[in-house]
Amino acid sequence: MKRKYDYDLLVIGAGSGGVRAARVAAGHGAKVAVAEEYRIGGTCVVRGCVPKKLLVYGAHFAEDLEDAARFGWQIEGASFNWTTLRDNVLAEVTRLSGLYTETLQNHSVEVLPGRAVVRGPHSVTIGEREVSAERLLIATGARPHIPDVPGCEHGITSNEAFHLESLPGRIVIAGGGYIANEFAGIFNELGSKVTLVHRSNRILRGYDHQICDRLLQISTMKGIRFLLNSTIERVVRRADGTLAVHTARDVLECDALMFATGRVPNTDGLGLESAGVQLDEHGAVRVDEWNRSTCPSIYAVGDVTNRVQLTPVAIREGQAFADTCYGNKPTKVDYRCIPSAVFSHPPLAGVGLTEAEARNTLGAVKIYTADFRPMKNVLANRNERALYKVVVDDASGRIVGAHMIGPDAPEILQVMAVIVKAGMTKAQLDECVAIHPTMAEELVLLK
Ligand code: NDP
Repeated sequence: MKRKYDYDLLVIGAGSGGVRAARVAAGHGAKVAVAEEYRIGGTCVVRGCVPKKLLVYGAHFAEDLEDAARFGWQIEGASFNWTTLRDNVLAEVTRLSGLYTETLQNHSVEVLPGRAVVRGPHSVTIGEREVSAERLLIATGARPHIPDVPGCEHGITSNEAFHLESLPGRIVIAGGGYIANEFAGIFNELGSKVTLVHRSNRILRGYDHQICDRLLQISTMKGIRFLLNSTIERVVRRADGTLAVHTARDVLECDALMFATGRVPNTDGLGLESAGVQLDEHGAVRVDEWNRSTCPSIYAVGDVTNRVQLTPVAIREGQAFADTCYGNKPTKVDYRCIPSAVFSHPPLAGVGLTEAEARNTLGAVKIYTADFRPMKNVLANRNERALYKVVVDDASGRIVGAHMIGPDAPEILQVMAVIVKAGMTKAQLDECVAIHPTMAEELVLLK
């Protein structure tokens, strides 16, 4: 029997959400193709989570080497080579991108290289080629947003940061969110002089204030300069190649400027209007709880929908879409209690309600904190304290939030995310016997 369409499903964008959806839908028996204009793997693998985390590891050696002396190690002539780290990280990205490609091939998903443009509810062009599919899945992700200030073209974004020819001696980072704080930490550890310019008086909006204040304090102590309540008004490139970044109060001389001022959904020029797909005021595809757009045959998952811009969420949305449409298993993503982390130096992480949110929504809450200097920092003479906070609903005794900053905080918080999601009580946490000596034991010893 001749098929009505070339494919059952055409996914546009081979990032975390798109690849998961394609692979699972194909596993359920659908005929699937993925269009991708750049590299398989998307933001997370190619220019986000993975290479960033590897740079964080690389950067952290600066502190480890410094601390080593107190543990008896004399490391003479230690030096850092940016190109070695950069090239090794980029090689790992290439390896992972290859694995993603293999996964698609192993599941008989056809990869269509090129930029896809939607021409109608079932129709897409990729270059000269026209293809049709019963369903389209938009999984095109997001891209850095650059504020429109004179000279902004002299700035880079996180996209370019992974490819720098050399480390900037002085870098200005605009923004106070995830990317700004993570890269401020990376560049600072690697020896750049970092100035972070942020438009409001609080970094990391959405995270618990006390935890953010601790990061601000430690980052400042480590040499990062924070200009809060400050915005960049213009950027001038000097004849010698350096930049002058103007704010209302300061002129910041630097070798590089990086914008980390949020990300916008990739819907420009995608042709979605031709199929009646509505976008929201930020250009994100409007979807319902089943990932359906306003066109019945077109769905969207991941950052392009601007729900929660996190890889594991995009993956869940891709999985839910595929199971619902091809696996006879209607599935909605549960957006409650999504844990998240910032891989700053030190890292921080949180899940559930912050103290302020809990006080505003629950009324009576109990806050338990552990504010301590990790054993390793004590011997290293590193004056850097960790802070763990557990937020408890007083009426039920349930743990409704957990927030922490300190070495390995994201690793530890993952388990607290299970506890919060499971609705466990503080009394149950207290019943657990500690593993001694660890940092995590503080969580079962909270008074
Ligand atoms: P964030 O939303 O975290 O931060 C954006 C920052 O830019 C905020 O501080 C915001 O200020 C500021 N800002 C926004 N618009 C402007 C403007 N026009 N002028 C000046 N400042 C501005 O975005 P990121 O770019 O750091 O990261 C994008 C998303 O990617 C994150 O939200 C996160 O979901 C995801 N991500 C996750 C990571 C992780 O899981 N570890 C790592 C990196 C990214 P204000 O606070 O005042 O709004």
